[in-house]
Amino acid sequence: MTQLWKQNLISGYQNFRAGPYKDRKNLYEQVGTQGQNPDVLVISCVDSRVSPSTIFGAHPGEIFILRNVANIVPPYAPSADYHGTSAAIEFAVVNMKVKAIMVMGHESCGGVAAFLASLDNTPDTDADADTSNEPSFLGNWIQILDAAHKRFMASDTGATGQQRQMEYAGVRQSLLNLMGFPFVEQAVAAGELSLQGAYFSIIEGRLLFADADGVFAEVPSE
Ligand SMILES: [Zn+2]
Repeated sequence: MTQLWKQNLISGYQNFRAGPYKDRKNLYEQVGTQGQNPDVLVISCVDSRVSPSTIFGAHPGEIFILRNVANIVPPYAPSADYHGTSAAIEFAVVNMKVKAIMVMGHESCGGVAAFLASLDNTPDTDADADTSNEPSFLGNWIQILDAAHKRFMASDTGATGQQRQMEYAGVRQSLLNLMGFPFVEQAVAAGELSLQGAYFSIIEGRLLFADADGVFAEVPSE
């Protein structure tokens, strides 16, 4: 018997074939043959509730999407490690020459919540299970938010535990980190690339954009 998750994916695929694909068959053929040339790179979270294609009603080939835990742009740190996020940014800017990069945070981000929870974790002196010393990719990754947290705490509105404010701060820090990539900095300086902060409120389905000062305001919904 087919598992439920597989049944759901197959029926979703069949709906796609009957609807969106059928409606845009020519476009799929065109972008499949001629290649992609998206104008925008959107960096968003892996969260299942925040789909850039859905939010922006994007057609195939329109936006290049990079998703990771908590929509983080790590600091520019060239090394022989495996930098998946940085590789995608490089590909978008250097090879595809996108005109804009949008970093989109979101409400109730589990990655941000995990970071905030980690602040409360004092070193445990009890005999923990052996697994406690195993390196965690996730734990290491979300510590990138520490720079955002420090900047936030140094600001007027800084206070620990404010999830939404930290989600905003994370977007601002990712935009700052983007400017640390030489090819991003050069493209911005040349007027060929714009950076934009954004935020998606899941409960109300609302989109916010950050202004030049990093202040978020709602985008008109109609
Ligand atoms: Zn998230």
